[in-house]
Amino acid sequence: MADNTVFDVAILGGGPAGYTAAFRAAQYGLKVALIEKTDKLGGTCLHVGCVPTKALLFNAEVWDHLKHGSEFGIDLGEGVTPKLNWSAVQQRKNGIVVKHTKGLDFLVKKNKVTRIEGFASLTGPAQAGVHTVDVSATDGTVTQVQAKNVFLATGSEAKMLPGLTADDRILTNIEILALPEPPKSLIVIGAGAVGVEFSSIFRSFGAEVAILEFLPRIVPVEDEEVSKELTRLFKKRGIDVNTGAKVETVEKTETGVKVTYTDANGKPQVKEAEKVLVAVGRYGRTTGIGLEKTKVELERGLIKVNDAQETAEPGVFAIGDIVFGLPQLAHVGMMSGMVAAAKVAGKKYRPVRHDRIPGCTYCEPPIGSVGLTETQAKEKGYEVKVGKFPMAGNSKATILGSHDGFVKVVSEAKYGEILGVHILGAQATELIAEAVTVLELEGTVEEMMFTIHAHPTLSESLLDGYGAVEGMAINA
Ligand SMILES: Cc1cc2nc3c(=O)[nH]c(=O)nc-3n(C[C@H](O)[C@H](O)[C@H](O)COP(=O)(O)OP(=O)(O)OC[C@H]3O[C@@H](n4cnc5c(N)ncnc54)[C@H](O)[C@@H]3O)c2cc1C
Repeated sequence: MADNTVFDVAILGGGPAGYTAAFRAAQYGLKVALIEKTDKLGGTCLHVGCVPTKALLFNAEVWDHLKHGSEFGIDLGEGVTPKLNWSAVQQRKNGIVVKHTKGLDFLVKKNKVTRIEGFASLTGPAQAGVHTVDVSATDGTVTQVQAKNVFLATGSEAKMLPGLTADDRILTNIEILALPEPPKSLIVIGAGAVGVEFSSIFRSFGAEVAILEFLPRIVPVEDEEVSKELTRLFKKRGIDVNTGAKVETVEKTETGVKVTYTDANGKPQVKEAEKVLVAVGRYGRTTGIGLEKTKVELERGLIKVNDAQETAEPGVFAIGDIVFGLPQLAHVGMMSGMVAAAKVAGKKYRPVRHDRIPGCTYCEPPIGSVGLTETQAKEKGYEVKVGKFPMAGNSKATILGSHDGFVKVVSEAKYGEILGVHILGAQATELIAEAVTVLELEGTVEEMMFTIHAHPTLSESLLDGYGAVEGMAINA
């Protein structure tokens, strides 16, 4: 900046971690500069992640309902079949993104945050307590921003398999969100949250989908029983799920792509499809931002921080997807930003608790989970008591025509403290909020068994899940 402003905080990156930290720091009365290399705030989450995928998933859900319209008494008339208008689907998705991008522009102004466009990098350690950040504009001009504290929030990017580049057939989350029409067939490499979300969405839109996952189970961070049941339900929907699959080559053919892999029995296999989605994880954007001129420490390409999100370089914090040891989720990025802002403002804060992070996978049916899986609880030495309630016994799930899945409650035997909740089923990603609160307040099975849940609601499945720990679910 040409002037001599010294900001309290300069934030590198305007994704969910960066903008949340900016607004919270401003609410504390700090002077904030938010530096974003593109002309839009919102990052991966708003433009090519959480929001557009969930818009497509909602369309897929509406479409699925319409395909089974007669079950709901919706008769389109003799000889009329529902038709998918893909460009309208895309338009709706894009409209949602635009609306919320404008919302962020408004919030920047409302919070009196100084917004700066350009690629930011640290110039080195602070001099007399002030950091200098170089900001390169697209026209090559470089200006400098000065701040007492710096938050690194540059996010992450999709990893590619060696030797591959994304294009119109080899896709990452970016290209797949802008397809001119749904593919007729799709191979998905990687069955973490991103892989299963797109598998589910495009299966609903009619694609033949094959999943190739290297690990022995899909959604490998979830409770084993969740992985097993989701596999069964995906297969029932016609998704070809292959675990223990080691991808060897990905080649383009005349009409699409060919993937060779070694299956779980060590046998070579080949699959062909119109497109392939590579969803094998994300790397942190930690290069080119001047870290080598600081004491910031990296582990596996991500930044090491303490409980207050501070790096080893005084006055430099890291938040969001670039942080080592935190799951790469928008809500984790947002909370880590709020922690860092509170620390700088000298306010009370609570560190991000790894065992209190809701994990949500937005497929059909969705997954919501928090806390320890059954296996993790046992490994930690707890005497474990588990309750499981099938969604089939929940009347609201039946009303919605979506009664697959279950609620699984993991508790410890001595005091009945709830250690983990794992939901596979309708609205699991919404329902999990109750379980997060229960864990946060160290709730017990007994307390929750006497907590009134409205009827008929999906949340009653949690009440039955707590009851199931004592063998006393009412509806199963
Ligand atoms: C397909 C998909 C679906 C997802 N769905 C969900 C979901 O439903 N729920 C969920 O919680 N998470 C979801 N995620 C993860 C979520 O998108 C990320 O965790 C989140 O975006 C991380 O936020 P961030 O602010 O750390 O980084 P980003 O969102 O990546 O933002 C970083 C920002 O920094 C900018 N930047 C980078 N380098 C510089 C620089 N040097 N100078 C200035 N600016 C810079 C970038 O342009 C970008 O705007 C999804 C991810 C994907 C790929």
